[in-house]
Amino acid sequence: MQNNILYQWQMTTLQKEFELKEGKLPVIKEEEALVKIAGCGVCHTDLSFWHFGVRTKRELPLTLGHEISGVVMEGPAHLKGKNVIIPAVLPCGECDLCKKGRSNICRNQLMPGNDFHGGFASHIKVPYRFLCPVPDAALEKYSLPQLSVIADAISTPYQVVKKSELEKGDLAIVIGVGGVGIYGALVAKIMGAKVIALDISDEKLEVAKNSGLNAVLNSKDLDFKALKNKVRQLAKEFDAPPYGWKIFEISGTKAGQLTAFGLLTFASTLSIVGFTMEKPEVRLSNLMAFDAKIIGTWGCQPELYPEVVDLVASDKLKIGKFVETFPMSKINEVFRNTLAHKYDKRSVLVPDF
Ligand SMILES: [Zn+2]
Ligand SMILES: [Zn+2]
Repeated sequence: MQNNILYQWQMTTLQKEFELKEGKLPVIKEEEALVKIAGCGVCHTDLSFWHFGVRTKRELPLTLGHEISGVVMEGPAHLKGKNVIIPAVLPCGECDLCKKGRSNICRNQLMPGNDFHGGFASHIKVPYRFLCPVPDAALEKYSLPQLSVIADAISTPYQVVKKSELEKGDLAIVIGVGGVGIYGALVAKIMGAKVIALDISDEKLEVAKNSGLNAVLNSKDLDFKALKNKVRQLAKEFDAPPYGWKIFEISGTKAGQLTAFGLLTFASTLSIVGFTMEKPEVRLSNLMAFDAKIIGTWGCQPELYPEVVDLVASDKLKIGKFVETFPMSKINEVFRNTLAHKYDKRSVLVPDF
């Protein structure tokens, strides 16, 4: 790899192979940094752009990828040479939403691999304001490419667990413990909840169980009434309250959303993290009867990233068994396999130009 050449794997057409492009390194402006990419995770959102026809904000051809770690090559003195995580959502930091602590939904936000060329490349030019430095303690445990998953797969569920106002001793029910959900479950556990994981995959539940969650249930094996009874019984066993459950829907399926809604009880909070185009039919008045609430969540405020990095650096959150790295030249194979659900770990592509 030549250090002065920019290599990018670009998406040119829907569902077609990514093409390798070579060019000059970009020149940065005052508020920008040039980051040499260490790793970039493959997210479901990338698949939506590449395969399912969701439009990127910037026109094609475009380099996808928004789950990025790397080393700052050019930029302000305090960041030069630093290992950093690039937040998946880069807000402006100045607008009303940003100032009200809602920077994750800043209307001027920029997302790598959507608004501008992203992380499946050798280098990336980004606004540097919210770059999150990686402490050495994190690098003693993981490689910089592995840590790229902090930028989305971990930060997104971290924000939602915080937003849910989960307290120590609460019962947390996480529906869907795949690449993102497993972190939601583990973060809830770290924050002191008793955690039940629900999924329809025995393999994923096995991983969840071995990661120290309190209980796992395969929702395929139980009708809904039996499932709710089982959850009630587990709450009792764990000495968790029978109300105020924190339910996290991370499967992004209609069935998962129906289960999540059905599990609502008094003073519960249901957080919607997964996305589906389907529309479940539910009786919203249950919210009134239970004095319960449903909240949504989008991405993660960059301001929370240092807390997430700290969870990993302090070894409270162990990520090694949920991440697998591949050379970036395998991008086409990795995307096809991800689409075919062939991996149970988060794939991170490592530049090998
Ligand atoms: Zn993503
Ligand atoms: Zn803003």
